Amino acid sequence: MKLNIPEHIENIVPYPPGKPLEELEREYGITDSIKLASNENPWGPSPEAVAAIQDSLQGLHRYPDGSSFYLTEALARWLGAGMDEVVLGNGSNEVIEFLVKAFVNTGDEVITSHPSFLMYQKFVQVRGGKNTVLPLKDMEHDLEGILEVVSEKTKLIFLDNPNNPCGTFFSGEKFISFLNRLPETVILVLDEAYVDFVEPEKRIDVLSYIRHSEGVPAVVALRTFSKAFGLAGLRVGFGLMHRKIAGLLHRVRQPFNINLPAQAGALAALSDISHYNQNLRKTKAGRMWLSDQVEQLGCRPYPSSTNFFLIDVGGDATRLYDAMLHKGVIVRSMKAYGYPNFIRITVGTEAENARFIKALTDCRSELGYV
Ligand SMILES: *Cc1c(COP(=O)(O)O)cnc(C)c1O
Repeated sequence: MKLNIPEHIENIVPYPPGKPLEELEREYGITDSIKLASNENPWGPSPEAVAAIQDSLQGLHRYPDGSSFYLTEALARWLGAGMDEVVLGNGSNEVIEFLVKAFVNTGDEVITSHPSFLMYQKFVQVRGGKNTVLPLKDMEHDLEGILEVVSEKTKLIFLDNPNNPCGTFFSGEKFISFLNRLPETVILVLDEAYVDFVEPEKRIDVLSYIRHSEGVPAVVALRTFSKAFGLAGLRVGFGLMHRKIAGLLHRVRQPFNINLPAQAGALAALSDISHYNQNLRKTKAGRMWLSDQVEQLGCRPYPSSTNFFLIDVGGDATRLYDAMLHKGVIVRSMKAYGYPNFIRITVGTEAENARFIKALTDCRSELGYV
C-alpha cells in the first residue's frame, strides 16, 4: 500500500490506551484495587436507570429514535430549556466534536487552557485547525490572557468550568466581563461536566446567555451524565445552545448517535432526581472528610467545587502514584500536567476514601516524604 497521510493527522498523539483494571491487577499481583483516578461516580447509577436499560434490551433489533425525543423532552423540562436548545451526544465529548466539525476549518484557531480537558485540542487537530493554548494562571483559566490572544481567526474558546484537573471555578462578574470583551464572532464553550457539584447559587445562568446573544458572543454549555449521574459507561452528554447553533450541530451528527439503552437509561436517571441529589450530598461529605484527613497528614489539599481535588504530597507524585498502585489504590499523578508534586484524587465511597488515606500515609512514610 501507499498511504498519503495528511500531516495534521500524523502529528496527533494517540490517546494513551489505559489498561483494563483486571490487567493492571494481574501485572502488579494485587486484588480488590480501587480506582480514584478518573473522576467517576463511585456509587453507580440509579437502580431505575439500570432497570430501564435492561428493559430496553428487548428492543435492540430496532434502530433507536434518531431524535431522542423523550430524553430531549425530559432534559428540556428539567433545565427549563426548549427542546430545540438541546443537542445530545455520545458523551459530551461528541458534542465537542460536533462544535469543532461545524465551526473549525483548516487554519482556524481555537483557544484552550493547559492543563485542561485534552479532547478539545484533539478534535481541532483532526480538522487541521490551530490550537492556541494558554497555561492556567494560579490554577485558574487566564481570562485576561485569552483576551490578548483572541483574533478574527478564533472560532471557539473551550473553558472547562470547573476546570479539570484543578477543580477551580469562575462565576458571575468575572464571566460577564470576559464575555463582554470578546469579539462577537467567537463561540464561548463552557464545559460544565462538573457543574452539578457546584452550589446552585454560584452557577452561571447559561440559559440566559444562550438566549440573549445580541452584541455578545454565543455561549454553549456542555453537560454530561458521566459524573453526577454515575453513567460514564453509557455515554450520554448534551449541549445547551442557541437554537441556530443546535440546528447546525444536528446537521453534522449521525442520525442514531444516542443508542437505545443510552436513551432509556438517561431518561430513567433523570426521573430519579433523589438518587442524583444523594450523589451530590455524599460527594460533598466525602470531599470534606478527605481534605480534612489529607491536611492532618501534613499534605496540602486544594479547594475544589467538584468530585475530585489536587493534593500537594510533598514529593515526586509519580513515585507516590506507583507506590500506591502497588497497594491497589489508583490515583492520578499530575507530573505530566506540570505539577510534579501533585496527585489528583476522585472522591470514592467511605471505605475507598479510608483506604486511600491509609495508603497515602504509608506510602509517604515509605518514600520519606514526611
Ligand atoms: C469527564 C469530563 C467530561 C465528560 O465527558 P463525557 O464524554 O460526557 O463522558 C467532559 N469534560 C470534562 C472536563 C471532563 O472531565
